[in-house]
Amino acid sequence: MNNWKKAVTFSYDDAVTQDIRLIELFNKYGVKGTFNLNSELLGKDGHLIREGVRVDHIKVAPERVREIYAGHEIAVHTLTHPNLAQVTDEEEIVRQVEQDRENLSRLAGYEVVGMAYPGGGVNFTEHAAKLIEERTGVKYARTTVCNQGFDV
Ligand SMILES: [Zn+2]
Repeated sequence: MNNWKKAVTFSYDDAVTQDIRLIELFNKYGVKGTFNLNSELLGKDGHLIREGVRVDHIKVAPERVREIYAGHEIAVHTLTHPNLAQVTDEEEIVRQVEQDRENLSRLAGYEVVGMAYPGGGVNFTEHAAKLIEERTGVKYARTTVCNQGFDV
């Protein structure tokens, strides 16, 4: 038996319009979330096909970002959601992160310092992490690894 304590955090990516309903529920129940946004995709229409079902993937309009995400954390998710593991130009990696951070800070009205890697764990590289740490204003970044459980 160890004395680990568990914590739950909520982190959602891509600024889809479904966030509006999710945040209504979060606010109703006093839950805080982090929302990782791609500033150059804001306001764009799209869709995903998941298990044969078409789902709207429409991005929140930039002029509504401050109002919709008020009381929750806005974080960087790069300008256009590239797989950073496949971006070979270091300047482009820095631009994708730092320009997104600056755009989102302007939209949010505060300095954005968090980040989630686009595509999660499979797209994470130590190389990109080092560039981001040394050359951007990002103070923390997360990736994802699915362990199919809630163990610490
Ligand atoms: Zn994403």
